[in-house]
Amino acid sequence: MAVGLYIHVPFCRSKCPYCDFYSICLSENQEASYIDAIIRNFKRYNGTEIDSIYFGGGTPSILSENSFNRIFEGINESFVLKNPEVTIEANPCTVDYYKLAFLRKAGFNRISFGVQSFKDDELKGLGRLHSGKQAIEAVLEAKRAGFENISVDLMLGILKQTRESLSYTVNVLSELPLKHISAYILKIEDNTPYNSDYVVNNIPNEDAVADLYIQAVDELYLKDFIQYEISNFSKKGFECKHNMKYWNCDEYIGIGPSAHSYFNNKRYAVPKSIESFINSELQEEIINEETPGTFEETAMLNLRLANGLSRQVCESFSVDFNQISKKALPLNKAGLVDVSDDRICITKKGFLVSNSIIARLI
Ligand code: SF4
Repeated sequence: MAVGLYIHVPFCRSKCPYCDFYSICLSENQEASYIDAIIRNFKRYNGTEIDSIYFGGGTPSILSENSFNRIFEGINESFVLKNPEVTIEANPCTVDYYKLAFLRKAGFNRISFGVQSFKDDELKGLGRLHSGKQAIEAVLEAKRAGFENISVDLMLGILKQTRESLSYTVNVLSELPLKHISAYILKIEDNTPYNSDYVVNNIPNEDAVADLYIQAVDELYLKDFIQYEISNFSKKGFECKHNMKYWNCDEYIGIGPSAHSYFNNKRYAVPKSIESFINSELQEEIINEETPGTFEETAMLNLRLANGLSRQVCESFSVDFNQISKKALPLNKAGLVDVSDDRICITKKGFLVSNSIIARLI
């Protein structure tokens, strides 16, 4: 079965104050050696079939055209491509029409913009470098450059966000040629500048964030974006194939510092160090699960999906679906899960407390 390929590009123009992903400022010296290391690592997977490729970061769109050409050459030499979905994450202020046209021609058929909001005061509060207008232009230019499958990321529960400002953002995006939206609730991470009294005391409180989330689900639905996962919405048929692999417990190869893999029945992670990645013949891989793909793990991931956990999946692990359905009845009465003859699905209200629901069911 074909697997996914994830390439972590750990470079950004500057560090956003809320972000705890592994990323550093791009230095041209490091870019070439980083690409060399990526290609070296491809070679170990010679002949592996892949049906999705995802460049995540960081900000992959800041790599040079030469770097992309080299990476795609390496991919074509080492892997067998099975009509892959090929996604790049992009920052709106790192692309113009020419870069987008290049990316499309180079092989990307899906682009995901880190927009977060179309309101300038909210973007400023997040320390983002782009404006709402730049985000709109980036999406329109991507379409003009030939991208049919365009996604944007939004954030919920951020400084200055209100019900009205969220409606404004949803209305703007509904006028754009988008096929997919990811909407994440802001989480204040320790060891980030955002973990300050000012931010903690001024972001919307827990109840307000819950209201914003339900509002986002409802308003996106009215604009034909169907929720298919806790934080993901798409037009029909445009679910992200690569990310579906994570929730369906399918295998993927991760390359680059801080990338994760689930391959050959093992889950492993690459240390968060660009130096170690560049200087090692092959990336160091720390196994964090020797026996993945258990029922518990599969059920936990499936329950993140709007389609939920099916009787068929339970039966494939010889687990009694009816027993789990019984446990779900009180949650069903509380409007947190839907239970039918062949599946259990968490509702939009339930998604707000999904971890405790999953813990009770599994
Ligand atoms: S652009 Fe994205 S990856 Fe880079 S610092 Fe900002 S949020 Fe983090």
